[in-house]
Amino acid sequence: MTTTLNETHDPSLRSWLASANAEGCDFPLQNLPFAVFRRRGGSERFRCGVAIGDQVLDLGAAAATGVFDGLAAEAARAGGEAKLNALMALGAPAWSALRLALSRALRAQAPHEQKLRACLVPQSEVEYDVPARIGDYTDFYTSVHHATNIGRQFRPDNPLLPNYKWVPIGYHGRSSSIGISGEHFPRPVGQTMPPGATQPVVGPSRRLDIELELGIFVGSGSARGVPVGMEQAEDHVFGICLLNDWSARDIQGWEYQPLGPFLSKNFATTLSPWVVTLEALAPYRVPFTRPEGDPQPLPYLDSGANRAQGAFDIQLQVLLQTPRMREAGEAGATICRTSYRHAYWTIAQMVAHHTVNGCNLQPGDLFGSGTLSGPTATEAAALIELTQGGKKPVELGGGETRTWLEDGDAVTLRGWCEKPGAARIGFGECTGTVDPARSLA
Ligand code: CA
Repeated sequence: MTTTLNETHDPSLRSWLASANAEGCDFPLQNLPFAVFRRRGGSERFRCGVAIGDQVLDLGAAAATGVFDGLAAEAARAGGEAKLNALMALGAPAWSALRLALSRALRAQAPHEQKLRACLVPQSEVEYDVPARIGDYTDFYTSVHHATNIGRQFRPDNPLLPNYKWVPIGYHGRSSSIGISGEHFPRPVGQTMPPGATQPVVGPSRRLDIELELGIFVGSGSARGVPVGMEQAEDHVFGICLLNDWSARDIQGWEYQPLGPFLSKNFATTLSPWVVTLEALAPYRVPFTRPEGDPQPLPYLDSGANRAQGAFDIQLQVLLQTPRMREAGEAGATICRTSYRHAYWTIAQMVAHHTVNGCNLQPGDLFGSGTLSGPTATEAAALIELTQGGKKPVELGGGETRTWLEDGDAVTLRGWCEKPGAARIGFGECTGTVDPARSLA
């Protein structure tokens, strides 16, 4: 586990790039997240970059300057590819060597400033792509608060199913429809059973929802047939981004029995461009604990390191911007504030559970954390919870309310970490916009 602090986490570090030292900046020297980018409006190819302040450092170009050596140089060269998979496959020692080399090269008074300045592209001038070729996407369900809130709507007397506190619940999702922040997608059309009706109808979803999640990217893969134990689990994890798992609740409610969600989830999943490494998040680890009276994890889901610091305190926020707000130049209204620390299962437990049966992982595989609702009403991370199943609209200010998403609504997820004695680091944003449904041909 990359649990230990090192010189790259030193909160007193400053960069020769002034924007990286600005108060409240998501991308100071202590963060160094990875993305896939190119200049907008041209014919450039996508390649990998690192965020520093308001710039992107072109990794392949930086490697070509010859300022890195050894494993760090190899890792930087892998960043010349169109996706992060090659860098991910190199493994945790390479990611760490590159982080250290970048940290030293971007510090104030570091040599080679002029060479690296030539490798910077302003973030305001770039567009991003999905950061990896995602072979498989698995969506977990790690918030006990979400599971309980949803379960209560269907089974008021028995909201949480008996397996929840023993098994990290998940299902296999769809990779082809994973998109990047800034995307628009049409409202999904599907089959629903209206209340009181005797046969289903087909049409645009009327209960379109969000799910605030984190995306967890697998770095180095694992062999088929070989379980990954808790002690090694995080060595296989490259980093974390923001993930919106858009969900059509009316389609879901009709189709989900007995095999679970299908068309209600696979029309769109939106990611933030920047992947923050677990090493960058080391200052924000917190203990994994279970409430008094809950079962402790089975041995294959337990470790001393996981108990001591297997969870992460990542602050999360959801903003909803209506078309009226956009026309008025207003930012979205905050509809949820929570933290990842409330999750019932940790990242290491997701990896150990996913592989215990012999299922292999590949570089670039993506896990969704599941909707990250916290314990209180304002920490609910989906409209189905915030509106109590559509019964109580959310007030957005300016006289506007929402029960479900309407056409033109844009939803933005934000994430960041901050605490005394550590540098504040951020995840940037994950935004998606709902367009009107396409008519059936
Ligand atoms: Ca989900």
